[in-house]
Amino acid sequence: MRATRTLTCRTGVKKKTMSTFFGAVADDFTGATDLGALLARSGVPVSLRVGVPNGKPEDDTAPLEVIALKCRTAGVDEAVAESRAALAWLRKAGAQRFFWKYCSTFDSTANGNIGPVAEALMEDLSVRQTIYCPAFPENGRAVFMGNLFVGDQPLAESPMKDHPLTPMRDSNLMRLLAPQVTRPVGHANRLVIERGSVALKAYLDTLSREGVAHVVVDAVANDDLHTIAEACHDMIFLTGGSAIAMNLPDLWTDLAASREDRNAADSQVEEGPAIVLSGSCSMMTARQVADYKVKGHQSFLLDPVTLAENGPEVVIAWLNSQQATESPIIYATAEPDAVRAAQDRLGAEHAGRVVEDALAACAVVARDRGVRRFVVAGGETSGAVTKALGIDRLRIGNEIAPGVPWCYATSGGHTVAITLKSGNFGDATFFTDALERLAR
Ligand code: ADP
Repeated sequence: MRATRTLTCRTGVKKKTMSTFFGAVADDFTGATDLGALLARSGVPVSLRVGVPNGKPEDDTAPLEVIALKCRTAGVDEAVAESRAALAWLRKAGAQRFFWKYCSTFDSTANGNIGPVAEALMEDLSVRQTIYCPAFPENGRAVFMGNLFVGDQPLAESPMKDHPLTPMRDSNLMRLLAPQVTRPVGHANRLVIERGSVALKAYLDTLSREGVAHVVVDAVANDDLHTIAEACHDMIFLTGGSAIAMNLPDLWTDLAASREDRNAADSQVEEGPAIVLSGSCSMMTARQVADYKVKGHQSFLLDPVTLAENGPEVVIAWLNSQQATESPIIYATAEPDAVRAAQDRLGAEHAGRVVEDALAACAVVARDRGVRRFVVAGGETSGAVTKALGIDRLRIGNEIAPGVPWCYATSGGHTVAITLKSGNFGDATFFTDALERLAR
């Protein structure tokens, strides 16, 4: 089933390598690393590309390739064009199964981009139907009767209602999706999933014959995800959060030969100090920032209004005054009222951008001062930091918390370890957990 290529080794012996089998397009960077982490649980190598790679795929593409875009809040046309370009690259790399990854809290604006991108990729792949399953039970995200829950709360009553860029004011996935797509939306509820993978497959086929192109699928526990993966692993194109993809590599039996030991990769990280950069305003990140500060790390709070007026010189001077070994934190993480006040003064986009630009500039200064381990909180923030560090490819390492792996990359000629944490992921001690994990 899977394509192979022939490479000539230095010895002149011809060696067969398998090319990419699975290609995913993710709508932001932390989402991409989250997906990478869950796929990597299978032991099959996962490579993450930042943006659509330039040029043709190399000979050493991984069996599982994830392309991270930064298109969650981009205009629909831009998001669709970028996603199509990513898909085209993955097809050239040999991929035969495809995935559109979005947030487990279905972060989107009124127009998209979850639906429009899915529909465009379906068209390019000549696919009639796909599923939507953002559930991630290990992180408290469940879909029940078409409604998304964050822990015990419906999405629209969770802290996501106050997200700075994508406030989620409805919990019903069919209602959120329908205005974003042109073809009919359907639903496979928990009672269908309960009947098992064969029944689910038959149900999806029935919906397909009725012309239903977009099917929201309930899942409240990992067993549900397993049932869905069993029913859908032969579908060419799936969409969802990361967890629905977690079981797929094990179901694609001919990937078994490519498993590797990722602990070996962890031990190859360059020694060097660390920095924490946080632009996420989620409640969990706020707890993580507080925990890290209480543990005595030096900290600098960024204020968007001051940054807009004076630029990042003050924080950069502060960073340059720190002892290299201190593992400081620079953060803009703030309560919803403070975020709203900054957005009222500057506009949401400008407020977000000055913070992202400042954290990105700090990352570069830190690297040039010898920092080799970066802990970054926030999806958009991670995109800005990774771009500034000139990172375009990451190898996925071991997971620190569900959906948050250490990744390894080259920046400025150095091997660096970087973890990109989506706002709500990890528990209160995540920042210190991450640094201790790598120190082991
Ligand atoms: P998350 O993963 O929690 O969604 P993101 O980094 O994706 O985090 O999004 C948070 C956005 O909020 C970023 O654009 C960031 O620059 C912006 N931001 C951070 N702090 C503030 C603040 N104090 N005021 C306004 N916007 C902020």
